[in-house]
Amino acid sequence: MSSPPTKNGSGAVAEAARPPAPARAPGRAPMSDLETVKHYFDAACERIGLPDDVREVMRTSYRETSVQIPVKLGDGRIHVFHGYRVQHNGARGPYKGGLRYHPDVDLDEIRALAMLMTWKTAIVGIPYGGAKGGVNCPGDKLSTQELQAVTRSLLDKIEKVLGPTRDIMAPDVNTSAQVMAWLMDEYGKLNGHTPAIVTGKPIALEGSYGRESATGRGLVYLFREAAPKLGMTPSSTTAVVQGFGNVGSWAARILHQLGVRIIGVSNADGAIRSDEGIDVTKLSELIVKGGKLTEFEGAEEIPADDLLALECDVLIPAALGGMVNEDNVDRIRCRMLLEGANSPTTPAADAALHDKGVYVIPDVMANAGGVVVSYFEWVQNLQHFRWEEREVNDKLGNIMRRAYREVDAAARERGLSLREAAYQVGIERVVETARLRGYI
Ligand code: NAD
Repeated sequence: MSSPPTKNGSGAVAEAARPPAPARAPGRAPMSDLETVKHYFDAACERIGLPDDVREVMRTSYRETSVQIPVKLGDGRIHVFHGYRVQHNGARGPYKGGLRYHPDVDLDEIRALAMLMTWKTAIVGIPYGGAKGGVNCPGDKLSTQELQAVTRSLLDKIEKVLGPTRDIMAPDVNTSAQVMAWLMDEYGKLNGHTPAIVTGKPIALEGSYGRESATGRGLVYLFREAAPKLGMTPSSTTAVVQGFGNVGSWAARILHQLGVRIIGVSNADGAIRSDEGIDVTKLSELIVKGGKLTEFEGAEEIPADDLLALECDVLIPAALGGMVNEDNVDRIRCRMLLEGANSPTTPAADAALHDKGVYVIPDVMANAGGVVVSYFEWVQNLQHFRWEEREVNDKLGNIMRRAYREVDAAARERGLSLREAAYQVGIERVVETARLRGYI
């Protein structure tokens, strides 16, 4: 590691304007994703001076659909899962957001993720609103048949609120291109062939080149923009990645190609480290073949809790929300926190990172690469046309760099952190379009 960055890295922070992070009562779990997102939203509204009535429109969802998903699993019994689609705000365009399959999914989590999508699409300037969906099923443990049954059942129940100009789903935790293909097929049975109904589809089914790697690649574009400020060059940089799924594994592989040394990686099976660097391309091949991360040769297994404590230049949380919290923030020793996951950092941890001088690139901008290339996929589908991968990646880079420069400029002008500035930019853009439409 080289010398620590200047405090906050994005310019002086007006301490007086920063509300204290809420303290946690003893024994209480760290903040939920919804509490976290609403905390950042409320703080931004205070700074903007948004009137209470407008704030209420922006704070609540436009529509929340909650459905029963009874599915006969391999054990012969019917399991009733719960499925959700939350459409938070559509002022800027059709609702857009991923679909998550995880046992912890509940309405509040999906509300938080939907709201985050509204600000995210506005920050990167693509014409979408924000939405999210989920089913509380163990997506990584179901058989292919079970997954397909859950997916088709969900689509049938929520089909009426979807549409290529209404609401477009995409992959998230434990949902893949295959899941998107089933959704497209089921929607097509009811409405005719409609590839633009979902993004993140397989290439053979009108998916876009570059979509699978887009979120990880977007993170790397932002790393490259910010690195010079902290005196980092790829070949002198070390990185640790928590979560080795779509986002984490692509971010790690693209950083590795640039010459960054990946010294620690984890997933739900455990964590590994190697000071010499982990060959993440080989690790990815092992996992695609069904191997376990902890079986990887050439790296040492460590307790999962120790991963975030590894000293490194860049730490990328790319698993689930709330992973960086008041219980572990004191142990974190990175210079840049690049948020691949949604809501990975609780407000109390965010404040502590600020005090430690860690440069935080927030989720609401950092992981937008996926939705940007989803937008490209949708545009291609509407035109029944396909772009080359280079074109997709170049256009993605342009949008991510522009978003970073705009948010960074707002942070400097207003004396805010990147997260505070990003929320303000996003909220202001959504409020402007809602006013133009005349409903606030
Ligand atoms: P994924 O299902 O492909 O991967 C999730 C990874 O996290 C897996 O490797 C899993 O084993 C790991 N994991 C789960 N629990 C863990 C734990 N306790 N410790 C360490 N690792 C753990 O999901 P994904 O699509 O890569 O999404 C990851 C995060 O990125 C989520 O927060 C998601 O909302 C966010 N995100 C995804 C996209 C996208 O395009 N896929 C876009 C923006 C944001």
